[in-house]
Amino acid sequence: MAMNDSLDTDSDFPIAVDADTKFPCKAWERLLVKTKYEYIPPKDRLDSDTPVSADCVRVVCISDTHSKIEVQDPKTIPYGDILLHAGDFTMKGEPNAVHKFNTFLGQLPHKHKIVIAGNHEISFDDNIMSKDHLDPMFGSMNKYVNEMSDLEVKSVKDLLTNCIYLEDSMVSLYGINIYGSPWQPAFGGWGFCLPRGEALLEKWKHIPTNTDILMTHGPPVGYGDVVKGGNHVGCVELLNVVQKVVKPKYHVFGHIHEGYGVSTDGCTTFINASTCTTRYRPSNPAVVLDFPLPSGH
Ligand code: 5GP
Ligand code: MN
Ligand code: MN
Ligand code: MN
Repeated sequence: MAMNDSLDTDSDFPIAVDADTKFPCKAWERLLVKTKYEYIPPKDRLDSDTPVSADCVRVVCISDTHSKIEVQDPKTIPYGDILLHAGDFTMKGEPNAVHKFNTFLGQLPHKHKIVIAGNHEISFDDNIMSKDHLDPMFGSMNKYVNEMSDLEVKSVKDLLTNCIYLEDSMVSLYGINIYGSPWQPAFGGWGFCLPRGEALLEKWKHIPTNTDILMTHGPPVGYGDVVKGGNHVGCVELLNVVQKVVKPKYHVFGHIHEGYGVSTDGCTTFINASTCTTRYRPSNPAVVLDFPLPSGH
């Protein structure tokens, strides 16, 4: 099989659902014995003031901005060639909020901006939007329909004109393969939620093995996935696929705001880029990395 194929037939795929998939704490206790976990403290991370060398691409990672950054000075986001946003850019995926986010993106000087949706972008989830009414918890569908009509679009995705939107898809920039996926373990029933186990594994099977930077909304188990109270809530299958199959250089995500920070297993650097705290205050700085330009670029 060619290295750039996704291993998406069941007979080829080397990962099965973990026996402890529904108990991420228990799974992590067992997996940690065989893997390395190292937290990278802020002082050991790349400082955004460091000049970028000619043979590197600077990548700036943010996530979970929840309609809170649009009022900020765009200069609070450090400059880079590529900006990544790992989902939850709104509170409820309201078309007007998506439009404001897109306008903010348009003010940023980054050459390329890549965005995935999170569970808060309910209007991006085709399964939800194809129903003739939204869940009672989201209120009336009319508000969404009216806002989209005023903005003259048929889909909220058409509002994201100032970035590349990824949904189980890949883009290649400077020879760097970036794959993005919005799915995460169901918790409260919002957008892009799937049950732990087979359903999520099915999505992760489609991540191409030549992915250099993986973007998902939620964390894998063990890395940047601890909630208040100390429990791990990341996806067990996602870690297994990342460590045993895809082995990307970087895995960028958010969703668990408490898990903001950087860690590594010695192969992949895991970045929880949540900009907002658990109180939805946009105070965590962007995480910056320099990706060496692949040869020929
Ligand atoms: P969001 O609503 O922005 O997706 O997530 C915000 C917060 O909800 C997280 O920082 C975390 O505290 C909580 N949360 C989200 N998903 C889960 C989950 O799967 N399990 C638990 N225990 N908390 C979660
Ligand atoms: Mn790989
Ligand atoms: Mn969030
Ligand atoms: Mn989320």
